[in-house]
Formats: sequence, C-alpha cells, structure tokens
Amino acid sequence: MIDSTILLIEDDASIRRLLQIALEASGFKVRHAVSGKEGKTEAAMHQPALVLLDLGLPDEDGQELLKALREWYTRPVIVVSARDEETEIVRALDNGANDYLTKPFRTGELLARIRAALRLAQPEISEPEKNYGSLCLDLSARMVRKNGDPVKLTSTEYALLALFVKNAGKVLTHSFILREVWGPGYIHHTEYPRVFVGQLRKKIEDDPNHPRFILTESGVGYRFMVD
Ligand code: CA
Repeated sequence: MIDSTILLIEDDASIRRLLQIALEASGFKVRHAVSGKEGKTEAAMHQPALVLLDLGLPDEDGQELLKALREWYTRPVIVVSARDEETEIVRALDNGANDYLTKPFRTGELLARIRAALRLAQPEISEPEKNYGSLCLDLSARMVRKNGDPVKLTSTEYALLALFVKNAGKVLTHSFILREVWGPGYIHHTEYPRVFVGQLRKKIEDDPNHPRFILTESGVGYRFMVD
C-alpha cells in the first residue's frame, strides 16, 4: 500500500478546507502548512506522497520554496496558484514542479491531476539494467547513474526518461510525449516537453547544449539515441 498523505501548503483557510474535504473524500490523508517554513518542516517530517503548493505564501515566495524542496524532495509537487502568466508557469516547472493548476480550479480536475502524478511516481515493473555509455539506468529500482554517480530525477523527469528509453531510436512527437507522460488532457501544454527535456538534458548530458542522448527533431519532437 502506498502512502497516500498529501501535504497542502496554502495560507488561504477556505481553500484548505475545500481541498481537505475533496481529498479526504477521495481517500487521501491531508496535512496542512500555512507558510513556507511550516511547509518545509511538514515535508521533511512526514515525507508526503505529494505536495500541493500555493505560490503566494506569507513568509516566502512559493517558487523559492519549490527550489528549496527540490534539493531533497523527489515526489510530485503540483503548484496551485492564482498566477496564470506563462512565464510564472514555466518558472515553476523549471523549479521542479510536476504540474501547475491555476485558481480558480475544479476539484475534479485537481484530483485527476493528483492521481496522474501519483501514478507516474509508481515504480516500474521488473526491467533489466540498461547501459548507454556514461549513462546507466535501472528502471525497476528507478535508479539513474551518470559516470557512476547517482542522478536525482523528479518523478516526472524519470517518467519522461523511461518513455525515451522504452522507445529508444524512435522519434516521439510532442503530443505523444504529452499523452504518455502527462495524460490525454495535456495535449495543449506544448511547453511541458520543452521544459522537462531541458531539465533532463542538464542532468544526463555531458553538454546539454549539444546533447548526444536526447536529440531534438525540429518541429516534430525528440529522439533518444543509443549507440
Ligand atoms: Ca496564498
């Protein structure tokens, strides 16, 4: 049984109450934090399965909190914010958010996204270790090493890499990647693959500007190349 505790970092009491009711009705346990400081403590002490993060917090900007969390917290983080500018959304994804939902939101949609993020975070079924030069992947242990050193990936980065590896050599279109990694409701989030491929490249490529593993197929998508 996977742990189903969700940490809600949100200073608005009415939104907390609304979310608590919806989440508990769906079988999740809920922990609350009303500030960035409390959020970090709760995340560290209780290792929730997923974090819902508001950006406008009283003591700290949620983007900064997200960066701090991502230094050690690898499970899904979904940002739920009133800020709807694309720059803010891309910044949150860059800072390590798995997904972004703008307020006001429908609880049904939020729950669907939570389930999708948690599904991605599930371990893969047994698969042999794969070696691609400096890169070593153990999909069943969710372990990635580069030149022997462990690479820390968020669950979304991991799901994206696993998709590339399973389809090595094939061109994957943006819409295929969106559907497989994020789900059918995400076809229009065309910025997601670009942002997450950028993050993956920084972590697994020797030179992210001249990638040898994840190649861009201009206007189409990406291809994971193996020797
Ligand atoms: Ca707020």
